[in-house]
Amino acid sequence: MKKIQMINPIVEIDGDEMTRILWEWIKDILIKPYIELNTEYYDLSLVNRENTKDQISKDAAFAIKKYKVGVKCATITPNAQRVKEYNLTQMWKSPNGTLRSILDGTVFRYPIIVNGINPLIPTWTKPITIARHAYGDVYSGVEEYIDESKLGKVVLKFSDGSEKIIFDFKDNGIVQSMHNTDKSIINFAKSCFNYALSTKTDLWFSAKDTISKIYDHRFKDIFFEIYENEYKEKFIENNISFFYTLIDDAVSRIVKSNGGMIWACKNYDGDVMSDMVATAYGSLAMMASVLVSPNGDYEYEAAHGTVTRHYYKYKAGEETSTNSVATIFAWTGALNKRGELDNNIELQKFAKNLEKATINTIESGIMTKDLACLYTGKLVNDTYVNSKEFLYSINDNLQKLL
Ligand code: NAP
Ligand code: MG
Repeated sequence: MKKIQMINPIVEIDGDEMTRILWEWIKDILIKPYIELNTEYYDLSLVNRENTKDQISKDAAFAIKKYKVGVKCATITPNAQRVKEYNLTQMWKSPNGTLRSILDGTVFRYPIIVNGINPLIPTWTKPITIARHAYGDVYSGVEEYIDESKLGKVVLKFSDGSEKIIFDFKDNGIVQSMHNTDKSIINFAKSCFNYALSTKTDLWFSAKDTISKIYDHRFKDIFFEIYENEYKEKFIENNISFFYTLIDDAVSRIVKSNGGMIWACKNYDGDVMSDMVATAYGSLAMMASVLVSPNGDYEYEAAHGTVTRHYYKYKAGEETSTNSVATIFAWTGALNKRGELDNNIELQKFAKNLEKATINTIESGIMTKDLACLYTGKLVNDTYVNSKEFLYSINDNLQKLL
Protein backbone atom coordinates (compact mmCIF):
# COMPACT_ATOMS: atom_id res chain seq x y z
CA MET A 1 0.00 0.00 0.00
CA LYS A 2 1.23 3.48 -0.86
CA LYS A 3 1.76 5.68 2.20
CA ILE A 4 -0.20 8.91 2.60
CA GLN A 5 1.99 11.97 2.01
CA MET A 6 1.91 15.07 4.19
CA ILE A 7 2.43 18.53 2.72
CA ASN A 8 3.26 20.52 5.88
CA PRO A 9 4.59 19.17 9.17
CA ILE A 10 2.85 18.72 12.50
CA VAL A 11 4.70 19.91 15.60
CA GLU A 12 5.28 16.72 17.59
CA ILE A 13 5.84 17.27 21.31
CA ASP A 14 7.07 14.21 23.16
CA GLY A 15 6.67 13.80 26.92
CA ASP A 16 7.22 11.57 29.92
CA GLU A 17 6.70 8.21 31.59
CA MET A 18 3.98 5.77 30.43
CA THR A 19 2.52 8.16 27.90
CA ARG A 20 5.97 8.50 26.28
CA ILE A 21 6.04 4.71 25.87
CA LEU A 22 2.52 4.70 24.39
CA TRP A 23 3.52 7.58 22.11
CA GLU A 24 6.21 5.49 20.41
CA TRP A 25 3.94 2.45 20.09
CA ILE A 26 1.04 4.44 18.66
CA LYS A 27 3.31 5.89 15.98
CA ASP A 28 4.92 2.54 15.17
CA ILE A 29 1.75 0.46 15.10
CA LEU A 30 -0.99 2.82 13.94
CA ILE A 31 0.53 5.77 12.08
CA LYS A 32 3.90 5.17 10.42
CA PRO A 33 2.80 2.07 8.46
CA TYR A 34 0.18 4.25 6.71
CA ILE A 35 1.55 7.79 6.63
CA GLU A 36 4.88 9.25 5.51
CA LEU A 37 4.92 11.06 8.82
CA ASN A 38 6.18 14.62 8.57
CA THR A 39 6.75 16.17 12.00
CA GLU A 40 9.00 18.72 13.61
CA TYR A 41 10.00 16.96 16.82
CA TYR A 42 10.36 18.61 20.24
CA ASP A 43 11.40 16.49 23.19
CA LEU A 44 9.67 17.93 26.26
CA SER A 45 10.68 15.09 28.56
CA LEU A 46 11.64 16.46 31.95
CA VAL A 47 15.25 15.40 31.29
CA ASN A 48 15.42 17.49 28.14
CA ARG A 49 13.63 20.44 29.72
CA GLU A 50 16.34 20.37 32.39
CA ASN A 51 19.11 20.09 29.77
CA THR A 52 17.76 23.02 27.75
CA LYS A 53 16.82 25.11 30.80
CA ASP A 54 13.23 24.76 29.55
CA GLN A 55 13.99 26.64 26.30
CA ILE A 56 12.55 23.60 24.48
CA SER A 57 9.03 24.33 25.83
CA LYS A 58 9.15 27.85 24.41
CA ASP A 59 10.59 26.63 21.10
CA ALA A 60 7.73 24.13 20.80
CA ALA A 61 5.15 26.86 21.38
CA PHE A 62 6.70 29.07 18.67
CA ALA A 63 6.78 26.11 16.30
CA ILE A 64 3.02 25.69 16.77
CA LYS A 65 2.59 29.37 15.94
CA LYS A 66 4.56 28.73 12.76
CA TYR A 67 2.94 25.47 11.58
CA LYS A 68 -0.50 25.98 13.23
CA VAL A 69 -0.90 22.32 14.29
CA GLY A 70 0.71 20.43 17.16
CA VAL A 71 0.23 17.18 19.04
CA LYS A 72 1.49 16.78 22.59
CA CYS A 73 2.25 13.83 24.84
CA ALA A 74 1.56 14.22 28.58
CA THR A 75 4.47 15.73 30.52
CA ILE A 76 5.49 15.85 34.16
CA THR A 77 4.83 19.12 35.93
CA PRO A 78 7.62 19.08 38.48
CA ASN A 79 6.92 19.36 42.20
CA ALA A 80 9.39 19.04 45.10
CA GLN A 81 9.44 15.24 44.81
CA ARG A 82 10.22 15.38 41.06
CA VAL A 83 13.01 17.91 41.64
CA LYS A 84 14.69 15.25 43.77
CA GLU A 85 13.80 12.32 41.53
CA TYR A 86 15.21 14.02 38.41
CA ASN A 87 17.93 16.01 40.12
CA LEU A 88 16.57 19.27 38.70
CA THR A 89 18.27 22.64 39.04
CA GLN A 90 14.86 24.34 39.15
CA MET A 91 11.19 23.47 39.57
CA TRP A 92 10.45 24.13 35.89
CA LYS A 93 7.04 25.57 35.04
CA SER A 94 4.24 23.41 33.65
CA PRO A 95 4.85 23.01 29.88
CA ASN A 96 1.11 23.32 29.33
CA GLY A 97 1.17 26.65 31.12
CA THR A 98 4.06 27.81 28.91
CA LEU A 99 2.28 26.72 25.72
CA ARG A 100 -0.96 28.33 26.84
CA SER A 101 0.63 31.65 27.68
CA ILE A 102 2.65 31.88 24.44
CA LEU A 103 -0.27 30.81 22.26
CA ASP A 104 -2.75 32.76 24.45
CA GLY A 105 -5.12 29.91 23.85
CA THR A 106 -8.22 28.36 25.32
CA VAL A 107 -8.39 24.69 26.31
CA PHE A 108 -11.35 22.65 25.03
CA ARG A 109 -11.88 19.28 26.72
CA TYR A 110 -14.21 16.67 25.27
CA PRO A 111 -15.16 13.04 26.00
CA ILE A 112 -14.75 10.23 23.49
CA ILE A 113 -18.06 8.43 23.44
CA VAL A 114 -18.38 4.66 23.00
CA ASN A 115 -21.43 2.38 23.15
CA GLY A 116 -21.28 0.27 26.28
CA ILE A 117 -19.44 2.86 28.38
CA ASN A 118 -22.46 4.76 29.57
CA PRO A 119 -22.33 8.25 31.05
CA LEU A 120 -23.64 8.54 34.60
CA ILE A 121 -26.21 10.93 33.16
CA PRO A 122 -28.05 8.64 30.73
CA THR A 123 -29.39 11.44 28.51
CA TRP A 124 -25.83 12.57 27.61
CA THR A 125 -25.61 10.75 24.31
CA LYS A 126 -23.48 13.44 22.64
CA PRO A 127 -20.20 14.89 23.92
CA ILE A 128 -20.15 18.04 26.03
CA THR A 129 -17.04 20.09 25.37
CA ILE A 130 -15.91 22.42 28.13
CA ALA A 131 -13.99 25.55 27.16
CA ARG A 132 -12.25 27.00 30.17
CA HIS A 133 -10.99 30.57 30.18
CA ALA A 134 -7.56 29.95 31.65
CA TYR A 135 -6.60 33.49 32.65
CA GLY A 136 -7.22 35.62 35.72
CA ASP A 137 -10.11 35.73 38.21
CA VAL A 138 -9.37 33.97 41.51
CA TYR A 139 -6.38 32.18 39.95
CA SER A 140 -4.43 35.42 40.06
CA GLY A 141 -6.43 36.98 42.86
CA VAL A 142 -4.95 39.00 45.70
CA GLU A 143 -6.21 37.92 49.11
CA GLU A 144 -5.74 39.02 52.68
CA TYR A 145 -6.78 37.91 56.13
CA ILE A 146 -7.87 40.98 58.03
CA ASP A 147 -6.82 40.58 61.64
CA GLU A 148 -7.11 43.06 64.54
CA SER A 149 -4.16 45.08 63.23
CA LYS A 150 -5.81 45.66 59.85
CA LEU A 151 -9.42 46.45 60.83
CA GLY A 152 -11.06 49.37 59.05
CA LYS A 153 -11.79 50.33 55.47
CA VAL A 154 -10.35 48.36 52.59
CA VAL A 155 -10.38 50.56 49.48
CA LEU A 156 -9.57 50.33 45.82
CA LYS A 157 -7.50 53.32 44.68
CA PHE A 158 -7.31 54.28 41.02
CA SER A 159 -4.70 56.30 39.18
CA ASP A 160 -7.16 59.18 38.61
CA GLY A 161 -7.30 59.64 42.38
CA SER A 162 -10.76 58.15 42.84
CA GLU A 163 -11.50 55.43 45.37
CA LYS A 164 -14.05 52.72 46.01
CA ILE A 165 -14.71 51.18 49.41
CA ILE A 166 -14.72 47.38 49.33
CA PHE A 167 -15.69 46.82 52.97
CA ASP A 168 -15.34 48.45 56.33
CA PHE A 169 -14.03 45.70 58.63
CA LYS A 170 -15.22 46.01 62.25
CA ASP A 171 -14.26 42.38 62.96
CA ASN A 172 -11.71 39.94 61.60
CA GLY A 173 -12.45 38.64 58.13
CA ILE A 174 -11.18 38.01 54.64
CA VAL A 175 -10.94 40.00 51.45
CA GLN A 176 -10.09 39.10 47.90
CA SER A 177 -9.67 41.08 44.71
CA MET A 178 -9.39 39.71 41.22
CA HIS A 179 -9.04 41.00 37.71
CA ASN A 180 -9.31 40.17 34.07
CA THR A 181 -8.40 42.04 30.90
CA ASP A 182 -10.45 42.88 27.81
CA LYS A 183 -7.67 41.42 25.65
CA SER A 184 -7.80 38.05 27.36
CA ILE A 185 -11.60 37.89 27.29
CA ILE A 186 -11.64 38.87 23.59
CA ASN A 187 -9.12 36.12 22.80
CA PHE A 188 -11.17 33.63 24.82
CA ALA A 189 -14.35 34.56 22.96
CA LYS A 190 -12.65 34.35 19.55
CA SER A 191 -11.14 30.95 20.33
CA CYS A 192 -14.60 29.71 21.33
CA PHE A 193 -16.32 31.06 18.21
CA ASN A 194 -13.54 29.67 15.98
CA TYR A 195 -13.68 26.25 17.59
CA ALA A 196 -17.48 26.13 17.34
CA LEU A 197 -17.21 26.88 13.61
CA SER A 198 -14.37 24.42 13.12
CA THR A 199 -16.35 21.59 14.77
CA LYS A 200 -19.82 22.83 13.66
CA THR A 201 -21.08 22.71 17.22
CA ASP A 202 -23.45 25.01 19.13
CA LEU A 203 -21.73 27.34 21.60
CA TRP A 204 -23.07 28.15 25.06
CA PHE A 205 -21.60 30.76 27.36
CA SER A 206 -22.63 31.27 30.95
CA ALA A 207 -21.76 33.77 33.68
CA LYS A 208 -23.45 35.54 36.58
CA ASP A 209 -24.08 38.94 35.05
CA THR A 210 -27.22 39.62 37.11
CA ILE A 211 -25.16 39.70 40.31
CA SER A 212 -21.81 40.77 38.90
CA LYS A 213 -23.06 43.74 36.92
CA ILE A 214 -19.64 45.03 35.84
CA TYR A 215 -17.27 42.05 36.02
CA ASP A 216 -19.31 39.17 34.61
CA HIS A 217 -21.31 41.58 32.49
CA ARG A 218 -18.11 42.60 30.71
CA PHE A 219 -17.61 38.98 29.65
CA LYS A 220 -21.18 38.83 28.36
CA ASP A 221 -20.88 42.14 26.48
CA ILE A 222 -17.62 41.12 24.83
CA PHE A 223 -19.05 37.77 23.71
CA PHE A 224 -22.13 39.44 22.20
CA GLU A 225 -20.18 42.23 20.54
CA ILE A 226 -17.76 39.83 18.85
CA TYR A 227 -20.56 37.50 17.88
CA GLU A 228 -22.65 40.23 16.27
CA ASN A 229 -19.72 41.84 14.43
CA GLU A 230 -17.64 38.88 13.35
CA TYR A 231 -19.40 35.53 13.67
CA LYS A 232 -23.18 35.78 13.42
CA GLU A 233 -23.35 35.30 9.67
CA LYS A 234 -20.88 32.41 9.71
CA PHE A 235 -22.86 30.72 12.48
CA ILE A 236 -26.09 31.04 10.48
CA GLU A 237 -24.36 29.69 7.34
CA ASN A 238 -23.12 26.68 9.31
CA ASN A 239 -26.47 26.14 11.01
CA ILE A 240 -25.08 26.45 14.53
CA SER A 241 -26.13 28.76 17.36
CA PHE A 242 -24.67 30.91 20.11
CA PHE A 243 -26.60 30.88 23.37
CA TYR A 244 -25.98 32.87 26.55
CA THR A 245 -27.56 32.06 29.88
CA LEU A 246 -26.88 32.49 33.61
CA ILE A 247 -24.47 29.92 35.05
CA ASP A 248 -27.13 28.38 37.32
CA ASP A 249 -29.59 28.06 34.46
CA ALA A 250 -26.82 26.56 32.30
CA VAL A 251 -26.06 23.91 34.94
CA SER A 252 -29.67 22.75 35.11
CA ARG A 253 -30.15 22.83 31.33
CA ILE A 254 -26.91 20.89 30.72
CA VAL A 255 -27.93 18.13 33.15
CA LYS A 256 -31.24 17.72 31.30
CA SER A 257 -29.69 17.97 27.81
CA ASN A 258 -28.49 15.35 25.32
CA GLY A 259 -25.08 17.04 25.20
CA GLY A 260 -23.61 18.07 21.87
CA MET A 261 -22.57 21.62 22.77
CA ILE A 262 -19.43 23.56 23.62
CA TRP A 263 -19.89 25.12 27.04
CA ALA A 264 -17.65 28.15 27.47
CA CYS A 265 -16.97 28.80 31.15
CA LYS A 266 -15.16 31.42 33.16
CA ASN A 267 -11.97 30.19 34.80
CA TYR A 268 -13.38 28.85 38.08
CA ASP A 269 -16.59 27.49 36.55
CA GLY A 270 -14.52 25.66 33.93
CA ASP A 271 -12.20 24.19 36.55
CA VAL A 272 -15.12 22.74 38.51
CA MET A 273 -17.44 21.81 35.64
CA SER A 274 -14.75 20.03 33.60
CA ASP A 275 -14.18 17.62 36.47
CA MET A 276 -17.91 16.99 36.77
CA VAL A 277 -18.28 16.39 33.03
CA ALA A 278 -15.19 14.10 32.85
CA THR A 279 -16.39 12.00 35.78
CA ALA A 280 -19.91 11.74 34.43
CA TYR A 281 -18.65 10.46 31.05
CA GLY A 282 -16.78 7.62 32.76
CA SER A 283 -13.01 7.79 32.46
CA LEU A 284 -10.31 10.44 32.42
CA ALA A 285 -8.51 8.26 29.90
CA MET A 286 -11.35 8.96 27.44
CA MET A 287 -11.05 12.75 27.61
CA ALA A 288 -9.22 14.51 24.81
CA SER A 289 -8.23 18.13 24.85
CA VAL A 290 -7.24 20.82 22.37
CA LEU A 291 -5.69 24.23 22.92
CA VAL A 292 -6.98 26.73 20.37
CA SER A 293 -5.37 30.14 19.94
CA PRO A 294 -7.32 33.20 18.76
CA ASN A 295 -5.24 33.05 15.53
CA GLY A 296 -6.41 29.53 14.80
CA ASP A 297 -3.41 27.48 16.02
CA TYR A 298 -4.36 24.04 17.36
CA GLU A 299 -2.52 21.84 19.85
CA TYR A 300 -4.07 18.43 20.62
CA GLU A 301 -3.42 16.23 23.65
CA ALA A 302 -4.93 13.74 26.10
CA ALA A 303 -6.49 15.27 29.21
CA HIS A 304 -4.82 12.78 31.56
CA GLY A 305 -1.26 12.82 32.91
CA THR A 306 1.76 10.60 32.40
CA VAL A 307 0.19 7.63 34.31
CA THR A 308 3.16 7.31 36.67
CA ARG A 309 1.95 4.21 38.54
CA HIS A 310 1.77 2.22 35.28
CA TYR A 311 5.20 3.48 34.21
CA TYR A 312 6.88 2.08 37.31
CA LYS A 313 5.22 -1.28 36.65
CA TYR A 314 6.43 -1.11 33.04
CA LYS A 315 9.96 -0.25 34.17
CA ALA A 316 9.90 -3.25 36.52
CA GLY A 317 9.20 -5.43 33.48
CA GLU A 318 5.51 -5.96 34.26
CA GLU A 319 2.70 -5.71 31.74
CA THR A 320 0.36 -2.73 31.96
CA SER A 321 -3.12 -2.21 30.62
CA THR A 322 -2.88 1.52 29.96
CA ASN A 323 -5.58 3.18 27.90
CA SER A 324 -4.16 4.91 24.80
CA VAL A 325 -7.49 6.21 23.42
CA ALA A 326 -7.11 9.89 24.37
CA THR A 327 -3.53 9.94 23.03
CA ILE A 328 -4.66 8.30 19.78
CA PHE A 329 -7.38 10.93 19.47
CA ALA A 330 -4.79 13.64 20.04
CA TRP A 331 -2.96 12.29 16.98
CA THR A 332 -6.14 11.97 14.90
CA GLY A 333 -7.17 15.49 15.90
CA ALA A 334 -3.85 16.87 14.71
CA LEU A 335 -3.72 14.78 11.52
CA ASN A 336 -7.27 15.77 10.65
CA LYS A 337 -6.60 19.47 11.26
CA ARG A 338 -3.37 19.28 9.20
CA GLY A 339 -5.41 17.64 6.44
CA GLU A 340 -8.06 20.35 6.65
CA LEU A 341 -5.53 23.20 6.46
CA ASP A 342 -3.56 21.57 3.63
CA ASN A 343 -6.64 20.37 1.78
CA ASN A 344 -5.28 16.83 2.15
CA ILE A 345 -8.42 14.68 1.92
CA GLU A 346 -6.54 11.39 2.29
CA LEU A 347 -5.03 12.49 5.60
CA GLN A 348 -8.43 13.58 6.92
CA LYS A 349 -9.97 10.28 5.87
CA PHE A 350 -7.21 8.33 7.59
CA ALA A 351 -7.73 10.26 10.84
CA LYS A 352 -11.47 9.52 10.79
CA ASN A 353 -10.82 5.83 10.08
CA LEU A 354 -8.35 5.54 12.95
CA GLU A 355 -10.93 7.06 15.31
CA LYS A 356 -13.57 4.68 14.02
CA ALA A 357 -11.25 1.67 14.36
CA THR A 358 -10.49 2.65 17.98
CA ILE A 359 -14.19 2.90 18.84
CA ASN A 360 -15.03 -0.31 16.94
CA THR A 361 -12.36 -2.16 18.94
CA ILE A 362 -13.89 -1.20 22.27
CA GLU A 363 -17.42 -1.83 21.02
CA SER A 364 -16.32 -5.35 19.96
CA GLY A 365 -15.38 -6.09 23.59
CA ILE A 366 -11.61 -5.50 23.44
CA MET A 367 -10.36 -2.84 25.85
CA THR A 368 -7.96 -1.86 28.63
CA LYS A 369 -8.59 -2.51 32.32
CA ASP A 370 -9.92 0.95 33.21
CA LEU A 371 -12.69 0.58 30.61
CA ALA A 372 -13.42 -3.10 31.32
CA CYS A 373 -14.59 -2.03 34.79
CA LEU A 374 -17.14 0.35 33.25
CA TYR A 375 -18.20 -1.67 30.21
CA THR A 376 -21.74 -3.04 30.17
CA GLY A 377 -21.24 -5.38 27.18
CA LYS A 378 -19.43 -8.72 27.01
CA LEU A 379 -15.62 -8.71 27.01
CA VAL A 380 -13.80 -10.93 24.51
CA ASN A 381 -12.45 -13.93 26.50
CA ASP A 382 -14.07 -12.32 29.56
CA THR A 383 -10.98 -10.23 30.20
CA TYR A 384 -9.15 -7.02 29.34
CA VAL A 385 -6.03 -6.73 27.17
CA ASN A 386 -2.61 -5.20 27.81
CA SER A 387 -1.43 -1.88 26.40
CA LYS A 388 0.15 -3.31 23.25
CA GLU A 389 -2.53 -5.93 22.50
CA PHE A 390 -5.06 -3.10 22.51
CA LEU A 391 -3.08 -1.23 19.84
CA TYR A 392 -2.72 -4.36 17.70
CA SER A 393 -6.50 -4.94 17.86
CA ILE A 394 -7.10 -1.36 16.77
CA ASN A 395 -4.73 -1.96 13.87
CA ASP A 396 -6.73 -5.06 12.83
CA ASN A 397 -9.90 -2.97 12.79
CA LEU A 398 -8.14 -0.13 10.97
CA GLN A 399 -7.07 -2.46 8.16
CA LYS A 400 -10.70 -3.50 7.67
CA LEU A 401 -11.62 0.16 7.08
CA LEU A 402 -8.80 1.08 4.66
P1 NAP B 1 -2.58 10.69 35.73
O1 NAP B 1 -1.30 10.47 35.07
O2 NAP B 1 -3.70 11.17 34.86
O3 NAP B 1 -3.00 9.34 36.43
C1 NAP B 1 -3.85 9.22 37.55
C2 NAP B 1 -4.48 7.83 37.58
O4 NAP B 1 -5.58 7.80 36.66
C3 NAP B 1 -3.56 6.71 37.11
O5 NAP B 1 -2.75 6.24 38.14
C4 NAP B 1 -4.56 5.70 36.60
O6 NAP B 1 -5.22 5.03 37.68
C5 NAP B 1 -5.61 6.60 35.95
N1 NAP B 1 -5.29 6.87 34.53
C6 NAP B 1 -4.99 8.08 33.98
N2 NAP B 1 -4.78 7.95 32.68
C7 NAP B 1 -4.92 6.65 32.38
C8 NAP B 1 -4.81 5.88 31.19
N3 NAP B 1 -4.49 6.48 30.03
N4 NAP B 1 -5.02 4.55 31.25
C9 NAP B 1 -5.34 3.95 32.41
N5 NAP B 1 -5.46 4.62 33.59
C10 NAP B 1 -5.25 5.95 33.56
O7 NAP B 1 -2.45 11.78 36.90
P2 NAP B 1 -1.37 11.94 38.08
O8 NAP B 1 -0.94 10.61 38.57
O9 NAP B 1 -1.99 12.92 38.99
O10 NAP B 1 -0.13 12.66 37.39
C11 NAP B 1 1.02 11.98 36.89
C12 NAP B 1 1.94 12.99 36.23
O11 NAP B 1 1.28 13.55 35.10
C13 NAP B 1 2.31 14.15 37.13
O12 NAP B 1 3.71 14.35 37.08
C14 NAP B 1 1.59 15.35 36.54
O13 NAP B 1 2.37 16.52 36.64
C15 NAP B 1 1.42 14.95 35.10
N6 NAP B 1 0.23 15.53 34.43
C16 NAP B 1 0.40 15.98 33.16
C17 NAP B 1 -0.67 16.46 32.44
C18 NAP B 1 -0.43 16.95 31.03
O14 NAP B 1 0.68 16.91 30.54
N7 NAP B 1 -1.45 17.39 30.35
C19 NAP B 1 -1.95 16.47 33.00
C20 NAP B 1 -2.12 15.96 34.30
C21 NAP B 1 -1.01 15.48 35.00
P3 NAP B 1 -4.72 3.64 38.29
O15 NAP B 1 -3.36 3.89 38.83
O16 NAP B 1 -5.75 3.38 39.36
O17 NAP B 1 -4.72 2.60 37.22
MG1 MG C 1 -10.42 21.02 38.43
